[in-house]
Amino acid sequence: MKGMTQRSPSIVVVGAGVAGLAAAKRLKEYGFDDVTVLEASEKVGGRVAAATIGSACVDTGAQYIHGATDENPVYCLLKNSGLLSQVSEDGSEKFYNNKRQEVDADVATRVYKIGEDILRYHGSSTGKSLGEHFAEKTKAVIDSSEDDEMKIRMQNVFALVGKDMLIDIGASDLHSVSLDSWEYYTNMGEDLDVPGLMFRLVDMLLEDFPKERLLMKREVSKIKWDGSFSAVKDVPAPPSDESLSAHTEAVSEGNVRQYPVCIVCENGEEILTDHVIVTVSLGFLKAQALNLFSPSLPAEKMEVINKLCFGNIAKIFLEYEQAFWEDGVGTFSFIYEDDSPTSVSTNTTQWLKNIQLFSVLRPKERFGNILIGWCPGDIADLIETMTEEDLSSAITEHLRMFFGKSDIPPPKSVHSTKWGSNRFIKGSYTYLPVGVNGQVMDTLAQPLMGSHRPTVNLQVMFAGEATMKSLYGTVHGALLSGHREADRLAKHYNKDPPSTASLDKQV
Ligand SMILES: Cc1cc2nc3c(=O)[nH]c(=O)nc-3n(C[C@H](O)[C@H](O)[C@H](O)COP(=O)(O)OP(=O)(O)OC[C@H]3O[C@@H](n4cnc5c(N)ncnc54)[C@H](O)[C@@H]3O)c2cc1C
Repeated sequence: MKGMTQRSPSIVVVGAGVAGLAAAKRLKEYGFDDVTVLEASEKVGGRVAAATIGSACVDTGAQYIHGATDENPVYCLLKNSGLLSQVSEDGSEKFYNNKRQEVDADVATRVYKIGEDILRYHGSSTGKSLGEHFAEKTKAVIDSSEDDEMKIRMQNVFALVGKDMLIDIGASDLHSVSLDSWEYYTNMGEDLDVPGLMFRLVDMLLEDFPKERLLMKREVSKIKWDGSFSAVKDVPAPPSDESLSAHTEAVSEGNVRQYPVCIVCENGEEILTDHVIVTVSLGFLKAQALNLFSPSLPAEKMEVINKLCFGNIAKIFLEYEQAFWEDGVGTFSFIYEDDSPTSVSTNTTQWLKNIQLFSVLRPKERFGNILIGWCPGDIADLIETMTEEDLSSAITEHLRMFFGKSDIPPPKSVHSTKWGSNRFIKGSYTYLPVGVNGQVMDTLAQPLMGSHRPTVNLQVMFAGEATMKSLYGTVHGALLSGHREADRLAKHYNKDPPSTASLDKQV
């Protein structure tokens, strides 16, 4: 052992979305001092993203805290920073039908709540689809009513609930979604709309992380693992924490070091490391996992990547000179009298029927007059191919029809998100198809064990929303997955938990 220098393990995080940044921040808090983040795009934050419309900062990605309670670390971070004081109270909900009539909001919200409760069923190994369950249960509720007019009202509102659920899931058909979707899911409470504020979370995660260790425009094209790669490097000061030496196998003879992992970037750069935490989206893994890893991922992990679905949604921002809606309105929903909850799916030839939900960005003082139109699945894919002019005129006709007002002006600007065609993301979030339950996400989260160098543990690790069966598809799920992997490494190196660990409740 003479001449050997103990050193801090090197850790590379692939992806500067919330999972990657949370992992990197937590690792630094544990005292790991050789942490590098590689991000393929020009922007940090991944699916937590902001854009400027007029003078307003809007969220092109996540905008709601799913569960505004102290259990939720994202809620806690935004609350503790005082940002939530900028959030408006919920606006009112308005409903219109395709006969140009406003629908009684009290009745609609009551029926809506019944439909939502039916959809949020915690199925357990049913093997059924959410669509099948929804059709069955809503039929029973409708049949139990003796009022014919009410039956029709329920039918239409339930269909609306189903269509809105497609947006929450990012899917095109409720019959393709597993009824067991929420079997392991942790509901942290009511949603809180935090428009224009979610990106501040990214700023918070970046605080104190050394800028020179966040490398942008570094697309990772290959992760070679289970190897023994040599490098001549400057030797950093030995770590003060003696416990590191117990596990750090990569050693130096003089200045030559061996590493089990070699990361190759698209620009030809090679980075050798002891550990890599891969946080790319499920969409990216679906497209690239076969080429990304050498040796290939184990068959069971590839199977999970192929089995899980990665949906898409589009947010269409419509900026107006003046509001044509009343002050205090939060959402408009459009109800079609020929829609039915028995088959809730999109139809690209009648795509406007799936732009049934509009939300108002509030407060007006911060955002001006901006509406967001929402749509799911293949309608979102279609929207991504349309020009802003075509979208503007189609949506203006749509709004005029429902409001029964031919003088609604076209928006002064239209911006739609393009998550599906973003080649580093490829969609919105993960969902479970029929026959698959959340447990498979544990397989995705499992670190890889080398066969040539099995003693060099935790070479390749995985984080990201798709690795969290209890919170997939969310920002806090992504954040906690990053913490989970940082904690795994800390445990491996016998590190004491940082004080921030208390933010993570067991989920
Ligand atoms: C439109 C939209 C609305 C949403 N709304 C909400 C919401 O209201 N509330 C909520 O909780 N969640 C919402 N979500 C989901 C939430 O945004 C995500 O679950 C979460 O941000 C995912 O974070 P992540 O770190 O797991 O992945 P990502 O954010 O996808 O981060 C992965 C990063 O890896 C980078 N990358 C990819 N390939 C490579 C490579 N080869 N080399 C280097 N880097 C690479 C990507 O560029 C990206 O920055 C929404 C998502 C979308 C798209």
